[in-house]
Amino acid sequence: MQFTYQSYGKLLEQLRDHGYQTADYESWRQKERCVILRHDVDNDIQKAVEMAVFEREQGVASTYFVLLTSNFYNAFSGETCEALQKIMNCGHQIGLHFDEVRYPSLAGDMEGIGKKIAEEAELLGRAAGCRVNTVSMHRPSKEILEADLQIPGVINSYGKIFFKDFKYVSDSRRRWREPVEEIVASERYERLHVLTHAFWYNRQELDLHDSVFRYVNGGNRQRYDWLEDNITDLEAIMPSGEIL
Ligand SMILES: [Zn+2]
Repeated sequence: MQFTYQSYGKLLEQLRDHGYQTADYESWRQKERCVILRHDVDNDIQKAVEMAVFEREQGVASTYFVLLTSNFYNAFSGETCEALQKIMNCGHQIGLHFDEVRYPSLAGDMEGIGKKIAEEAELLGRAAGCRVNTVSMHRPSKEILEADLQIPGVINSYGKIFFKDFKYVSDSRRRWREPVEEIVASERYERLHVLTHAFWYNRQELDLHDSVFRYVNGGNRQRYDWLEDNITDLEAIMPSGEIL
Protein backbone atom coordinates (compact mmCIF):
# COMPACT_ATOMS: atom_id res chain seq x y z
CA MET A 1 0.00 0.00 0.00
CA GLN A 2 1.32 3.43 -0.93
CA PHE A 3 1.40 6.31 1.53
CA THR A 4 -0.89 8.57 -0.47
CA TYR A 5 -4.36 9.91 0.22
CA GLN A 6 -5.57 7.95 -2.77
CA SER A 7 -4.33 4.66 -1.29
CA TYR A 8 -5.73 5.47 2.13
CA GLY A 9 -9.05 6.29 0.42
CA LYS A 10 -8.95 2.87 -1.24
CA LEU A 11 -8.41 1.23 2.13
CA LEU A 12 -11.46 3.07 3.51
CA GLU A 13 -13.49 1.95 0.51
CA GLN A 14 -12.33 -1.62 0.99
CA LEU A 15 -13.33 -1.49 4.66
CA ARG A 16 -16.80 -0.33 3.62
CA ASP A 17 -17.09 -3.01 0.94
CA HIS A 18 -16.29 -5.69 3.49
CA GLY A 19 -18.94 -4.42 5.89
CA TYR A 20 -16.76 -2.65 8.46
CA GLN A 21 -18.56 0.29 10.04
CA THR A 22 -16.38 3.02 11.51
CA ALA A 23 -16.65 3.33 15.26
CA ASP A 24 -15.02 5.24 18.09
CA TYR A 25 -13.74 3.94 21.42
CA GLU A 26 -17.27 3.91 22.86
CA SER A 27 -19.63 3.21 19.96
CA TRP A 28 -17.91 0.00 18.82
CA ARG A 29 -19.92 -2.02 21.31
CA GLN A 30 -23.11 -1.29 19.37
CA LYS A 31 -21.66 -2.43 16.06
CA GLU A 32 -21.18 -5.93 14.79
CA ARG A 33 -18.39 -5.58 12.30
CA CYS A 34 -16.46 -2.42 12.91
CA VAL A 35 -13.18 -0.55 12.58
CA ILE A 36 -11.75 2.04 14.93
CA LEU A 37 -9.60 4.47 12.94
CA ARG A 38 -6.96 6.26 14.93
CA HIS A 39 -4.19 8.73 14.15
CA ASP A 40 -1.30 9.63 16.43
CA VAL A 41 -0.12 13.19 15.85
CA ASP A 42 3.58 12.82 16.67
CA ASN A 43 4.96 15.97 15.09
CA ASP A 44 2.89 17.78 12.49
CA ILE A 45 -0.55 19.09 13.45
CA GLN A 46 -1.16 20.59 9.99
CA LYS A 47 -0.79 17.17 8.35
CA ALA A 48 -3.42 15.94 10.80
CA VAL A 49 -5.78 18.68 9.59
CA GLU A 50 -5.18 17.62 5.97
CA MET A 51 -6.00 14.02 6.85
CA ALA A 52 -9.07 15.10 8.85
CA VAL A 53 -10.45 16.99 5.84
CA PHE A 54 -9.72 14.04 3.56
CA GLU A 55 -11.50 11.65 5.92
CA ARG A 56 -14.54 13.89 6.08
CA GLU A 57 -14.69 13.85 2.27
CA GLN A 58 -14.60 10.05 2.49
CA GLY A 59 -17.42 10.06 5.03
CA VAL A 60 -15.52 8.53 7.96
CA ALA A 61 -14.87 9.76 11.49
CA SER A 62 -11.80 8.88 13.52
CA THR A 63 -9.85 9.86 16.62
CA TYR A 64 -6.80 12.14 16.51
CA PHE A 65 -4.45 11.63 19.44
CA VAL A 66 -2.61 14.82 20.30
CA LEU A 67 0.48 15.34 22.47
CA LEU A 68 0.47 17.92 25.23
CA THR A 69 4.20 17.68 25.84
CA SER A 70 5.60 17.85 22.32
CA ASN A 71 8.57 19.88 21.16
CA PHE A 72 6.99 20.06 17.70
CA TYR A 73 3.74 21.82 18.49
CA ASN A 74 2.10 23.53 21.42
CA ALA A 75 -1.44 22.37 22.16
CA PHE A 76 -2.20 25.74 23.76
CA SER A 77 -0.96 27.94 20.88
CA GLY A 78 -3.57 29.75 18.79
CA GLU A 79 -2.44 27.95 15.64
CA THR A 80 -2.77 24.50 17.21
CA CYS A 81 -6.13 25.32 18.84
CA GLU A 82 -7.41 26.38 15.44
CA ALA A 83 -6.11 23.14 13.93
CA LEU A 84 -7.83 21.09 16.66
CA GLN A 85 -11.06 22.97 16.03
CA LYS A 86 -10.84 22.19 12.31
CA ILE A 87 -10.31 18.49 13.07
CA MET A 88 -13.38 18.48 15.32
CA ASN A 89 -15.43 20.40 12.77
CA CYS A 90 -14.77 17.52 10.38
CA GLY A 91 -16.59 15.27 12.84
CA HIS A 92 -13.54 13.65 14.46
CA GLN A 93 -12.62 13.28 18.10
CA ILE A 94 -9.55 14.48 19.96
CA GLY A 95 -7.77 12.07 22.27
CA LEU A 96 -4.62 12.46 24.36
CA HIS A 97 -1.35 11.09 23.01
CA PHE A 98 0.75 10.47 26.10
CA ASP A 99 4.53 10.42 26.24
CA GLU A 100 5.64 8.68 29.42
CA VAL A 101 9.29 9.67 28.78
CA ARG A 102 8.29 13.21 29.79
CA TYR A 103 8.06 11.96 33.40
CA PRO A 104 11.27 10.04 34.12
CA SER A 105 10.67 10.08 37.86
CA LEU A 106 7.47 8.05 37.30
CA ALA A 107 9.18 5.23 35.39
CA GLY A 108 7.52 1.99 36.45
CA ASP A 109 5.01 3.80 38.70
CA MET A 110 1.78 2.91 36.91
CA GLU A 111 -0.42 4.62 39.47
CA GLY A 112 1.51 7.87 39.08
CA ILE A 113 1.40 7.57 35.28
CA GLY A 114 -2.36 6.98 35.41
CA LYS A 115 -2.76 10.21 37.38
CA LYS A 116 -0.64 12.16 34.88
CA ILE A 117 -2.75 10.82 32.02
CA ALA A 118 -5.95 12.00 33.73
CA GLU A 119 -4.34 15.39 34.39
CA GLU A 120 -3.10 15.81 30.80
CA ALA A 121 -6.47 14.70 29.37
CA GLU A 122 -8.16 17.41 31.41
CA LEU A 123 -5.65 20.04 30.26
CA LEU A 124 -5.87 19.02 26.61
CA GLY A 125 -9.64 19.23 26.90
CA ARG A 126 -9.26 22.82 28.06
CA ALA A 127 -6.92 23.65 25.17
CA ALA A 128 -9.17 22.02 22.58
CA GLY A 129 -12.46 23.08 24.14
CA CYS A 130 -13.87 19.56 24.21
CA ARG A 131 -14.05 16.54 26.46
CA VAL A 132 -10.96 14.35 26.08
CA ASN A 133 -11.70 10.86 27.29
CA THR A 134 -9.33 8.60 25.36
CA VAL A 135 -5.59 8.09 25.53
CA SER A 136 -3.00 6.43 23.32
CA MET A 137 0.65 5.98 24.23
CA HIS A 138 3.57 7.50 22.35
CA ARG A 139 6.36 4.95 22.02
CA PRO A 140 5.08 2.89 24.94
CA SER A 141 7.39 0.95 27.24
CA LYS A 142 6.86 -2.76 27.85
CA GLU A 143 5.57 -1.93 31.34
CA ILE A 144 2.87 0.43 30.13
CA LEU A 145 1.84 -2.01 27.36
CA GLU A 146 1.42 -4.80 29.84
CA ALA A 147 -0.16 -2.73 32.61
CA ASP A 148 -3.71 -2.59 31.13
CA LEU A 149 -4.01 0.78 32.89
CA GLN A 150 -7.48 1.67 34.14
CA ILE A 151 -7.85 5.43 34.35
CA PRO A 152 -11.05 6.93 35.79
CA GLY A 153 -12.89 8.83 33.05
CA VAL A 154 -10.34 7.97 30.35
CA ILE A 155 -10.55 5.04 27.91
CA ASN A 156 -7.13 3.47 27.44
CA SER A 157 -6.72 2.55 23.76
CA TYR A 158 -3.79 0.43 24.94
CA GLY A 159 -6.07 -1.50 27.25
CA LYS A 160 -6.17 -5.27 26.67
CA ILE A 161 -9.63 -5.08 25.10
CA PHE A 162 -8.40 -3.11 22.07
CA PHE A 163 -5.73 -5.68 21.37
CA LYS A 164 -7.49 -8.87 22.45
CA ASP A 165 -10.96 -8.27 21.02
CA PHE A 166 -9.65 -6.34 18.02
CA LYS A 167 -7.14 -7.05 15.31
CA TYR A 168 -4.64 -4.20 15.62
CA VAL A 169 -2.63 -2.97 12.64
CA SER A 170 -0.41 0.09 12.37
CA ASP A 171 1.80 1.97 9.92
CA SER A 172 4.42 2.94 12.53
CA ARG A 173 7.71 4.16 11.07
CA ARG A 174 5.96 4.27 7.69
CA ARG A 175 5.70 0.52 7.41
CA TRP A 176 2.70 -1.76 7.76
CA ARG A 177 3.96 -4.69 9.81
CA GLU A 178 1.15 -6.81 8.43
CA PRO A 179 -0.61 -6.62 5.06
CA VAL A 180 -3.57 -4.46 6.05
CA GLU A 181 -5.45 -4.87 2.77
CA GLU A 182 -5.26 -8.67 2.98
CA ILE A 183 -6.49 -8.57 6.56
CA VAL A 184 -9.52 -6.49 5.56
CA ALA A 185 -10.26 -8.64 2.51
CA SER A 186 -10.04 -11.88 4.52
CA GLU A 187 -12.90 -10.75 6.82
CA ARG A 188 -11.23 -12.92 9.45
CA TYR A 189 -11.77 -10.37 12.17
CA GLU A 190 -15.02 -8.74 13.22
CA ARG A 191 -13.23 -5.82 14.85
CA LEU A 192 -10.28 -3.88 13.54
CA HIS A 193 -8.20 -1.18 15.24
CA VAL A 194 -6.17 0.72 12.66
CA LEU A 195 -3.46 3.22 13.57
CA THR A 196 -2.11 5.53 10.89
CA HIS A 197 0.16 8.56 11.12
CA ALA A 198 -1.04 11.45 8.96
CA PHE A 199 2.61 12.57 8.80
CA TRP A 200 3.46 9.90 6.21
CA TYR A 201 0.61 10.59 3.76
CA ASN A 202 0.90 12.91 0.77
CA ARG A 203 -0.78 13.50 -2.57
CA GLN A 204 2.25 11.92 -4.26
CA GLU A 205 4.16 8.98 -2.83
CA LEU A 206 7.34 10.04 -0.96
CA ASP A 207 9.72 7.48 0.50
CA LEU A 208 10.83 7.45 4.14
CA HIS A 209 13.92 9.60 3.51
CA ASP A 210 12.12 12.15 1.34
CA SER A 211 9.22 12.63 3.78
CA VAL A 212 11.65 13.28 6.64
CA PHE A 213 13.89 15.46 4.47
CA ARG A 214 10.95 17.61 3.39
CA TYR A 215 9.72 18.04 6.94
CA VAL A 216 13.11 18.93 8.42
CA ASN A 217 14.17 21.30 5.65
CA GLY A 218 10.72 22.82 5.26
CA GLY A 219 10.95 23.98 8.88
CA ASN A 220 13.10 27.04 8.14
CA ARG A 221 10.32 28.88 6.30
CA GLN A 222 7.92 28.22 9.19
CA ARG A 223 10.48 29.47 11.71
CA TYR A 224 10.96 32.62 9.71
CA ASP A 225 7.20 33.27 9.56
CA TRP A 226 6.86 32.81 13.32
CA LEU A 227 9.81 35.10 13.94
CA GLU A 228 8.21 37.71 11.70
CA ASP A 229 5.27 37.84 14.11
CA ASN A 230 7.68 38.56 16.93
CA ILE A 231 10.39 40.84 15.50
CA THR A 232 9.62 44.12 13.76
CA ASP A 233 11.03 44.40 10.25
CA LEU A 234 12.69 41.00 10.18
CA GLU A 235 13.22 41.45 6.43
CA ALA A 236 15.73 44.26 7.19
CA ILE A 237 17.66 41.97 9.54
CA MET A 238 17.57 38.87 7.37
CA PRO A 239 15.91 38.97 3.96
CA SER A 240 13.47 36.07 3.44
CA GLY A 241 15.44 35.22 0.27
CA GLU A 242 18.19 33.94 2.54
CA ILE A 243 16.05 31.12 3.93
CA LEU A 244 17.76 27.86 3.07
ZN1 LIG B 1 3.29 8.62 18.89
